[in-house]
Amino acid sequence: MATHIIGGGLAGLSTAVNLIRAGRGVHLYDSAGHCGGRCRSYFDSGLDRRIDNGNHLVLSGNRAVEEYLGHIDAPGELTGPDGAVYPFLDLATGGRWIVEMGAGRIPWWIFSTARRVPGSTPWDYLAALRLAWVSENDTVAGCLDTSSPLFEKFWEPLAVGILNTSTDEGAAALLWPVIRETFGRGAAACRPLIARVGLSETFIDPAVDFITANGAEIHLNTRLRALAMNGGRVSALEFNTGPVALSDGDSVVLAVPPVAAAGLLPGLETPTQHRAIVNGHFRLPHSTEDLSFLGLVGGTAQWLFVRGDVASVTVSAADALAEQSSDNIARILWGEVCLALDLGDLELPAHRIVKEKRATFAQTPEQVKRRAGVRTEWPNLFLAGDWTDTGLPATIEGTVHSGRTASETVLISSR
Ligand SMILES: Cc1cc2nc3c(=O)[nH]c(=O)nc-3n(C[C@H](O)[C@H](O)[C@H](O)COP(=O)(O)OP(=O)(O)OC[C@H]3O[C@@H](n4cnc5c(N)ncnc54)[C@H](O)[C@@H]3O)c2cc1C
Repeated sequence: MATHIIGGGLAGLSTAVNLIRAGRGVHLYDSAGHCGGRCRSYFDSGLDRRIDNGNHLVLSGNRAVEEYLGHIDAPGELTGPDGAVYPFLDLATGGRWIVEMGAGRIPWWIFSTARRVPGSTPWDYLAALRLAWVSENDTVAGCLDTSSPLFEKFWEPLAVGILNTSTDEGAAALLWPVIRETFGRGAAACRPLIARVGLSETFIDPAVDFITANGAEIHLNTRLRALAMNGGRVSALEFNTGPVALSDGDSVVLAVPPVAAAGLLPGLETPTQHRAIVNGHFRLPHSTEDLSFLGLVGGTAQWLFVRGDVASVTVSAADALAEQSSDNIARILWGEVCLALDLGDLELPAHRIVKEKRATFAQTPEQVKRRAGVRTEWPNLFLAGDWTDTGLPATIEGTVHSGRTASETVLISSR
C-alpha cells in the first residue's frame, strides 16, 4: 500500500513526512528539477549570492510549523528576536516606532505608550477583538477602524502580509485564527521568525533528507499529465516520463497549485484569482548584523529583511507594481532601502527583482468559498496545498497543516 504524492512543495513534503512517520510507503513527484515550489532558495548569479524566492516570515506560535520542523530534525533553523518586537519606519515621515508585546495572555502592554503604535489608544487594540465574530463575507477594512493610526501603522501591514490581499477585499475571517494562535497567546507565540540560512535549508532540504533516508523515492522533472480513473477510483498516473499503475489500496495526494489541480480534475472548484508578491534583493556595501527585519509603511516596500550583505524587501498584494519594469521597481525599492538603512544616496547596486504573479490565491471572501476540502469524489484521491480549505491563510503554517490533514485522511481512509 503506497501513497503517490504529486507536488514537492511544502504541502507535498509535509504529507510525505507524516505518512512516512506512520509507516506508509511514499512516492513523491515534482515537475520541477527541485523540491520547494514557492518556498525555496537558489543561487542568483547576478547578485553572486544565494537568495530566497521571496522573504517568508513566520510567527513563533505557528504550531504546525514547529511540529513539522521537529519531525524533519530542523527545529533550530528559524531565527528572530528574543521578544515579540516589531520595529517600523514610516517612509513618508521618517518616524520610527516599535510595537513590543508583553509576555502574558492578557495584553497589559497596550497600556504602555512606549510599546504602542504612536497615536494609538488601548481601546484601538481591544476593538480588534471584533475579528473574532466576523462573518465569512466580511473584509478586513470592513471590520477595523481604518481611520485609526493603529490600522495604518500595524493592522494594515500585518493583514496584507498575512493575506497577500488588500485590506479592502481581504477576508477578515482568515485573520482571527492567526491572531488567536499568536497574538492571543502572549509574546512567546508572536515572535517574528525568518529562516536562519535560507528557506531551502530550513524547510525543504531537511525534509528531502528525511524522506530519502527513510527509503522513499523522490522523482524530479516528473509532471503529472493526467489521472486515469477506473472502477470508481484512480487507477493510474500518466506522467511525462510514462504511466504508473496503482495497486489496490494505493492512494494519491494532489499537492499542486489550484490551477494545476483544476486542470487534472475537471469540475473541481478551486480559487481562480491570484495576487502577486514582488521581492527586491540588493547587495549592500557591507554586512549589517544587528537588523534582521523592519516593517515599512508610507511607501511601496512593506517589509525589509537583512541577511548578511543582502537587503530584501517585500511588497504583497503587488499586482499593479508587478506590471512595472524591473528597472523601475528596483529604483523605487532601492531608494526606500537607503532611507530605511540610512545609506544616503548610494547608487543602485547589484540586485534582483522577483515577481511571483501567482504568489497565493486572492484571499477574498468570494475566493475563500471556492477552497476545496481534502477529500474528492474519488475515494483514493486527496488534496493538499495552501489553497485547500484549512481555515487558515495561504501561508507556510496553513500549508504544512494541509499536509498533516491530508496524511491523516489517507490513513483513516485506508484502514
Ligand atoms: C514570494 C512569496 C512570499 C511568501 N511569503 C510568505 C510569508 O512571508 N509567510 C508565509 O507563511 N508564507 C508565505 N508565502 C506562501 C507560501 O510560500 C506558500 O503558501 C507555500 O509555499 C505553498 O506551498 P504548496 O506546497 O501549497 O504549493 P507550491 O509551493 O506551489 O508547490 C506545488 C508543487 O507542485 C509542483 N507541480 C505543479 N504541477 C505539477 C504536476 N502536474 N506534476 C508534478 N508536480 C507539479 C510544483 O512544481 C510545485 O513544486 C509566500 C509565497 C511567495 C510566492
